[in-house]
Amino acid sequence: MGISRRDFLKFGLLTGGLLTGGYKISESVASLRGSKVASPQYKYVPNLCEVCFWNCNLFAVVTNGKIVALEGNPLSQRGRGMLCGRGNAGMSLVYNPDRLKKPLLNTGKRGDPKWREVSWDEALNFVADKLKDIISKYGPESVALISHGSGGFWWKHLLNALGSDNIFAPSFANCRGARDVGFLLTFGSDCGSPENYDIENSKFLLLVGYHIGENAHNSHVQEFMIALSKGAKLAVLDPRLSNIASKANWWLPVKPGTDLAVLLALIHVIIKEELYDKDFVKNYTVGFDKLAEAVKDCTPEWAEKESDIPASAIVEIAREMSACKPAVCAIGGRFSVWYGDDVQRNRAIAIINALMGSWGRKGGFYLRASISVPKYPGLPPYPEAKPPLTGYPFALLPTTTALRKATITGDPYPVKAWIAYSCNIIQAIPSIQETIEAIHKLDLMVVVDILPSCHMPYADVVLPECSYLERYDNLFVDRMKVPAVSLRAPAIEPLFESRPSWWICKELGRRLGIEAYFPWKDGEEYVKKVCEAMNISFDELYEKGIILFPERANPYFGPNNPPHFDTPSGKVELYSSQLAEAGFDPLPKYTKHPEPPEGFFRLLSGRHPLHTFSRTINYPILNELVPENELWIHPKRAKELNLKSGDYVRLINQDGVKSSFKVKVKVTNRIRPDCVYMPHGWGVKAKELRWAYGKGASDNELYSTYKVDPIMGGTGMRVNFVKILKEG
Ligand code: SF4
Repeated sequence: MGISRRDFLKFGLLTGGLLTGGYKISESVASLRGSKVASPQYKYVPNLCEVCFWNCNLFAVVTNGKIVALEGNPLSQRGRGMLCGRGNAGMSLVYNPDRLKKPLLNTGKRGDPKWREVSWDEALNFVADKLKDIISKYGPESVALISHGSGGFWWKHLLNALGSDNIFAPSFANCRGARDVGFLLTFGSDCGSPENYDIENSKFLLLVGYHIGENAHNSHVQEFMIALSKGAKLAVLDPRLSNIASKANWWLPVKPGTDLAVLLALIHVIIKEELYDKDFVKNYTVGFDKLAEAVKDCTPEWAEKESDIPASAIVEIAREMSACKPAVCAIGGRFSVWYGDDVQRNRAIAIINALMGSWGRKGGFYLRASISVPKYPGLPPYPEAKPPLTGYPFALLPTTTALRKATITGDPYPVKAWIAYSCNIIQAIPSIQETIEAIHKLDLMVVVDILPSCHMPYADVVLPECSYLERYDNLFVDRMKVPAVSLRAPAIEPLFESRPSWWICKELGRRLGIEAYFPWKDGEEYVKKVCEAMNISFDELYEKGIILFPERANPYFGPNNPPHFDTPSGKVELYSSQLAEAGFDPLPKYTKHPEPPEGFFRLLSGRHPLHTFSRTINYPILNELVPENELWIHPKRAKELNLKSGDYVRLINQDGVKSSFKVKVKVTNRIRPDCVYMPHGWGVKAKELRWAYGKGASDNELYSTYKVDPIMGGTGMRVNFVKILKEG
């Protein structure tokens, strides 16, 4: 018995359409579960979904060497026993006919490739010889990894073993970094991933451009529904009536670029009317007087003029929020790099939470559990590495901005090899031309992936990794309310000639003369040894998929867990001494941002609940449900341009960059007239992807300009404007 295609469709619709973030186990899967007892041929293999980074725990149901269903693990904190529509489509990756099946060498040019299928031996020898040559000429730091995905663990280990710390995640400079730095500077801790929002116990949620539900983070979506059903109040600051905004008590359609004015006005009212948590502020914060002075002129009336948000709404929200303190969550989106002053906007969000006393309090922000996975026993220490390419004073990770610059200019040192692991760098990093210019300066470009992607034509060699359902990875930890450890185990052998990264990196390590760092026989031996080091049972972990440590949970401040903050002052820094010392504004200061020129719209982008960026566009089941993205435009502007829903258009931006593919228009009053919106991930140029190629438009293609946040190197992308060109 197998899960039917109709069931898949049903799951997808439930998840995407109802924003529930998941589904209860379907009848067909439930009957499979029943048949587990009656039909021992069904094997349940533990894993964690990798269709997005939320990594919900699941069981793969296997029979006759084939995966027939994926089922949420009821013990999972990330999934709470459910998978979202995308997670259910995981088999659409495993059995995808477009998968990379063999290693490929490019015998043509970068950008105009001619592919030759080669053996693993030839591909790995090619990569190892090139790396040896590059390292001998330029040093190990000239090798960089750009990674997004759990299997990146093995590649990071390879780079560290070579002596390079140049390990980049586009998710930092191009996504969540500004939020992480803003909270870290304020509370001495970032929000993590999954974020430490205690949504289910919250009584007031203020979302600043956070599209929960469209951004389908499984447990958070479920918690939202719980909170709203318990009567939590919801205010959403967003130029667009997102799906979650449609459930809000207050939708605040803010003029793009002016969110910080509204946030400062909220702080102004909270201080002026003494709505803050006085004990918390007195005992656990520094800089309150300076904050009060800084916002004294940021009145709601001033903010109304800047943002179009009525002063009365700002006052009302400040009062209602305060009535719910400390069970308040003010949260910004994970995609936090908008205008180049994004750390300061996120500092303002953090300060609102501090004034509400919500950090470490029920319904606010829980304290993330302390747990880590030990190293494989007996590995030699890593060689000392040159400082990585961070480039900005508060960059927590190397930034892709600094990587491209160093690759193009050789400053502060040359970068000659990029290994792109499981991320589509053409779609993920703004200014594609700059990315391509940097790639052309390289001596080696390696792509490691499961499906072809937009950057593959620029690779010298392509290494086909097997999917998450065909491999072991390192153990996963949950730093959530309850500390936990989870296991990914292969449900089936790798298909075609794909290989797991633990194997690819081990083989490269051997060829590079650093085999001492790769002593494990295979992935299973690796995780068994780590289980031993953690003093947990591999067999128990395999059976349950996850082991929780409730006795070690301590999610809130209390008598046995007094408030403590890992900042220079040991308190919550409303006034940031670190920013002051580095020459930045120590308190958030409003900056006016340019508005769209005549005839242009500001381009906004976001997520679709049934897709994870470009990663899933070629999953046939998801592509059938949502084949293309749509361009949202206000009816007034659509009328001026003689556009109706269903028309196809192209976009051209302020730099004259035109979208390669057409996009379908959606006329809706759910968006302000001064901007247009489309979900990210479409406009894929990889012709090998039969379902994805050429469908929809790419927002990133139109983000040819970006504004760098000088504090941490984030790439603000909402500084791009577009005109609409009617197709035909
Ligand atoms: Fe998979 Fe959905 Fe969970 Fe993401 S939220 S890991 S796609 S089930």
